[in-house]
Formats: sequence, C-alpha cells, structure tokens
Amino acid sequence: MRIAVQTETDANESRVAATPETVKTLIGLGAEFAVQSGAGRGSALDDSAYAAAGATIVPTAADAARDADVILRVRRPTVAEVAGAKPGALVLAILDPYDNLPALGALAGTGVSAFAMELIPRITRAQSMDVLSSQANLAGYRAVIDAAAAYERAIPMMTTAAGAVPPARIFVMGVGVAGLQAIATAKRIGGVVTATDVRPATKEQVLSLGAKFIAVEDEEFAAAETAAGYAKPMSAEYQAKQAELTASHIAKQDIVITTALIPGRKAPVLITAQMVASMQRGSIIVDLAVERGGNCELSRPGETVVTENGVKILGALNVPGRVPATASALYARNLVNFLKPLIDKDARTLAVDWDDEIVKATLLTRDGGTPHPGFQAPADEPPADEPPADATPAAQAAPESAAPAAETEAAPDDDDAEASDDAAPGPDETGGGAAAPGQPPARRQKPRGRGPRR
Ligand code: NAD
Repeated sequence: MRIAVQTETDANESRVAATPETVKTLIGLGAEFAVQSGAGRGSALDDSAYAAAGATIVPTAADAARDADVILRVRRPTVAEVAGAKPGALVLAILDPYDNLPALGALAGTGVSAFAMELIPRITRAQSMDVLSSQANLAGYRAVIDAAAAYERAIPMMTTAAGAVPPARIFVMGVGVAGLQAIATAKRIGGVVTATDVRPATKEQVLSLGAKFIAVEDEEFAAAETAAGYAKPMSAEYQAKQAELTASHIAKQDIVITTALIPGRKAPVLITAQMVASMQRGSIIVDLAVERGGNCELSRPGETVVTENGVKILGALNVPGRVPATASALYARNLVNFLKPLIDKDARTLAVDWDDEIVKATLLTRDGGTPHPGFQAPADEPPADEPPADATPAAQAAPESAAPAAETEAAPDDDDAEASDDAAPGPDETGGGAAAPGQPPARRQKPRGRGPRR
C-alpha cells in the first residue's frame, strides 16, 4: 500500500495532507510513503521529519504519484498530478466540486477513486474525520487573532498607573463551529463578548462560554433549526427585525466576527453598508463567510477593505491555512481516521466497502465515472488548463464510460427566499451528502457571484 503526499500547488494553500505523525501511524498499518520534497514546508515540517517517520522523500509530484495506491492532498489534484498512480488509486482531498464539474470529470477520466473530504456526513461515527469542523474551529480562532492584530487598541481591560483602558467589545455573528471558537478565543484574550445566531440551541452554548446572547427570540427563531442542526433561511420579516436589533448593537462594537452560513445558499448579509458607517473609526470586521458571498455587504474576497469612516473589513481567504501547522496536523488526522476503515488490518492492504455510508457520501469519481448523484460531471471536456485525461497511464487503464453531463449549480441568488428545510437540506438530511440527481448536496454549495473559484 503505497501512499503519496504531494506539495499543494494552489498559491493560497499552506497546508499539507500528512504530517510525520500521520505518516508513522499509517506505516504502522502497512503503508509505504513517498513524500514530495518540500510538501510540508508551508506548515513548518521539514523533509527530514518525514524521513525520520519512515517516508521516502522524492523530488517531484510525479515521483510521489508513481505506483501510488493512495494520494493524500489538501486540494483537488490535477490530472497531471495523479498520472502514474495505480488504476483506481484513492485520492483524498477537499475536491471543491461545486463550480468545477469539468475538472472533476477530467479527474474521473484518470480512473482514480476521489473522495471529497468536505462531504463527510455529520454522523457520530464520522466526527473524527470531519475536516469542516477541524478547519472551521481554527478559522474561528484565527479570525479573532487577525482582528486583534488589526485593532489599534488593546483587547483586555488594563488598569495601569496611567489610568484604565476599557476592554474591546467583540460581537460574534453565527455560533456554529467557527463562531464558538471565536467566542472562546475572544473571551480568553479579555474581550467583552456578545454573540448572535438564529438557532435557539446556540443560546445555552453562548452563555456557557461566558458571553451574552443577543437575538430576536420570536416564534420563527424557536423553529429556526433544521433536523440536521443547521440554520434555515429566515423570512424577510425576521431579517428586518434582526437587522434592527443588530444595527444598534453593531454601532457600539469594536470588533465583529461573522461566520453565518446557510446550507445550499449564499451567506446571509447581516451587516449592511449603513451599519458599517455607524461604527467607530478603528473598528474591525472579520468576514469568515467571504468565500460564500459574505456576511458583510462591503467585504471583498482576499482583501482588507478600509472604509471612509476608518472601519477595516478583513476578507482573508483560506483562514484555516493562516494557522497552517495546526490546520495540517488536524486535517492529516482527519484523513487517517477516514482511511483506517478502508484498510484490512490483517492483509495490510486497501479493502474499501463501497456500500459504506461515509464512502458513498464522499466518493465523487470511480472507474472513470462520477458515481455521486449530486455531481454528475462531464468526463470528456477537460478544462483548458489541463491536458486531456487520456494522456495519463492511469487514464488509459480506466473504462471509457463517463458520466453524462448535468447542470448542477442550483444556488439561489436571493438571500430572503422563504425556503423550507427541504429546499436546502444539510448532509444529514440527504443521507450523508447524497442529493437528487443534478443537485449537489446543499451544505457546501458555493454561491454564484463574488466568491472566487479555487
Ligand atoms: P454553519 O457553518 O453551517 O453556519 C454557521 C452558523 O451560522 C450556524 O450556527 C448557523 O445557525 C448560523 N447562521 C445562519 N444564518 C444566520 C443568520 N441569519 N444570523 C445569525 N446566524 C446565522 O454551521 P456549522 O458550524 O457547520 O454547524 C452547523 C451544525 O452542525 C451545528 O448544529 C453544529 O453543532 C453541528 N455540527 C455537528 C457535527 C457532528 O455531529 N459531527 C460536527 C460539527 C457541527
């Protein structure tokens, strides 16, 4: 069982899919490792550490992929990068298939079996594999650290001989995995923290972290959580009440961290330009939803916007990648936890149960096709930046059949649609990530418009 680890090629990616720790664990289960030289550099991991863990260091991505049974990546590899792998080799990565069906089709054409780690269902058995949680947790942490660094005052209250300085007021909007960590971090560094969400269950969580909960707690709020634990899109009426409450609160805040997402939809706009205009000079907004359209009307993906009234709006991309060593450590462990059940411990070889719920929810390419009903990609139209799929040895071994093309982008562009749960199911509601043909699972569907493609 030969496992390849390659250097990530996306300019914005600092993470790596395996660490010396996870290399050692998998070698213990019968693996051999080929790690591309420099793969861990962005995460402060030297080749020598991988070598000490038992990996062979190879100069290029092609050398790593050669005869691989498994390729571990953070982001979707190109056709060229999986060339030389064994037919049917497993590829584990955040595949980001939503706006990238041609690239997925091209990858399928190579014959690899590619698993989308972001589609891990949120079931108890899969918690240790949940890359969205491990990475969102770090994003929440880093958002507060970034805000503190950009803020031109101290965060905690300080009583000094020269007099006292007040603590910063920090408001967290959206209390999922990222929001909870943002609250905890903001409390730890001495902020006076308030938080809001539309799901009632979050109230107790906010209070238990020692923060104050602020929300419009009406009948709609009481029913705002789906069976899977996600937020429903709120009505226009609720949004107006929420905006009224938020507007007066935001005007008094020094730092606002936004993390609000709704499965299958563009992120809700919670902070309008008018609200930003009401904030004090030097205030900070960190928009963690910027890649999904943004919670703040003025945020821009990958940019820091400074408004006329001196408010800084941080829209960094890949925020978990801003804590790369920790993000890699946790991501790599998620991959090990995913891979372990796919290994026969006695035979020390791969033995995938293709009927397993987690496998079915995440498998996007196999035998030259795209088996996931939510991601039926055309395999015969490689993207312009890639060579034809049949240029690779793995592709030559793949069956010719390819999944039919289908239009799958279905994200509505409006924020205020009064859709039911059924219109925007989370993965739990769709049987662990499955969806109707032609419809990607709604949870991580990207919005059209402002978010950049990766
Ligand atoms: P998410 O990233 O989908 O959304 C972030 C937060 O934004 C959510 O708390 C949501 O309620 C909130 N939000 C949406 N619209 C809003 C609005 N208009 N105003 C304010 N807030 C708004 O959430 P997540 O972090 O993925 O967590 C979603 C759920 O999944 C939670 O119930 C969480 O506990 C659960 N979860 C389960 C597992 C597991 O079982 N393995 C793992 C992680 C999370």
